[in-house]
Amino acid sequence: MAIATRSTLLQGLRCRACGELQPADERYVCAECLGPIEPEYDLDRSRAEDLRAEITEGPRTLWRYAPLLPVRDAVGDSPVGWTPLIPAPRLGAALGITHLYVKDDTHNPTLSFKDRPVAIALARALELGLDTLACASTGNLAGAVAAAAARSGLRAFVFVPETTEPGKIASAAAYGAHVVRVTGTYDQVNRLCGRLADEHGWGFVNFTLRPYYAEGSKTLLFECAEQLGWTLPHHVVVPVGSGALLTRTATAAAQLRAAGLVDDGHCHIHAAQASGCAPVSDAVLGGRPVTPVRIPETIAKSIAIGAPSDGDGAVSVVNASGGSAASVGDSDIADAIALLATTEGIFIEPAGGVVVATARELARRGVIHDGETVVLYLTGSGYKQEPTTGELGPVIPPDADAFHLAYEEVLR
Ligand SMILES: *Cc1c(COP(=O)(O)O)cnc(C)c1O
Ligand SMILES: [Zn+2]
Repeated sequence: MAIATRSTLLQGLRCRACGELQPADERYVCAECLGPIEPEYDLDRSRAEDLRAEITEGPRTLWRYAPLLPVRDAVGDSPVGWTPLIPAPRLGAALGITHLYVKDDTHNPTLSFKDRPVAIALARALELGLDTLACASTGNLAGAVAAAAARSGLRAFVFVPETTEPGKIASAAAYGAHVVRVTGTYDQVNRLCGRLADEHGWGFVNFTLRPYYAEGSKTLLFECAEQLGWTLPHHVVVPVGSGALLTRTATAAAQLRAAGLVDDGHCHIHAAQASGCAPVSDAVLGGRPVTPVRIPETIAKSIAIGAPSDGDGAVSVVNASGGSAASVGDSDIADAIALLATTEGIFIEPAGGVVVATARELARRGVIHDGETVVLYLTGSGYKQEPTTGELGPVIPPDADAFHLAYEEVLR
């Protein structure tokens, strides 16, 4: 495997609770107060031109942002990231949004954005010399971890609720991972893994490697900004599970500004959740802290996390950015999947349907003003999913008359 070593501007890990800056060693919580720690970089506007040149000359993967990622040895040859940002005029016309784009992150090796955080967690696991990757997953993370482990010759244990879609379980198993199916909700799976993480010396991507894992989620906004000619979109609509993607979207915007790569402009970050599990959206709309949802019930299983670890962080990020939120029902989610597919030819899973339906709701409420750029994060493909649309049309014998008869109405 080709290892491209590029410079990182990482200075250390800063505790979000007590503010202490500490070295990037094996720790994954603050050594002083056990608070959450996050990578911090040496960013300086006076070097913006050099940094921009280094990025634009980099590989057509997320590793082009190596200076703003927390690992020394970037694993450079896995084709993760640099997915298309696609103008979506036909969807925009249907939603009443003039400058609409979709960030199509279904173009990743395992068909979801989870390949991004996993790429960073894997690189860190290799730096630490670990031989096993593990995770607690709502479905997509399991596949991303399993594939990354396979590519690097590592062992993988992936833990999922037993109700996870068969397509997601089957693909994770195909990569050779031990797929541990657990009775109960994602939050119960998560608590189990929290106990196992300390016990085994595994690279648990969303526990012991979380400070690194979460950094991969910044790269969606990095790419959107670069693809828009180094400007931030006015609005980003983000699906929320644990809240890592949403909070790191704000981190990414702050880092792009601090490095002088974009101008200080507004970037409103909006939370998209399903009404069957909307702890973050409900908190934003109700102007109160997150109340956990005990038993999530929605077809958007990949974001059905009742007690999101970055939930309160996500609420403050949305508020600080001047963003909003929506929680949308399952039938609106299914309609939104069909709307995107029939207007733009892109097939997404329910988490994406939540985003499209949220954009419709925001436009209806007048949150988006004329001429503002709007980006929708499409984080997962419909191809690993159970069907959400019922009607498949008739089956006919191989006979022209039978065709004409069956499609009489359509042909008229
Ligand atoms: C995991 C996931 C999300 C949510 O990501 P978080 O960082 O956990 O908030 C969104 N969409 C899809 C398809 C996912 O798999
Ligand atoms: Zn601390």
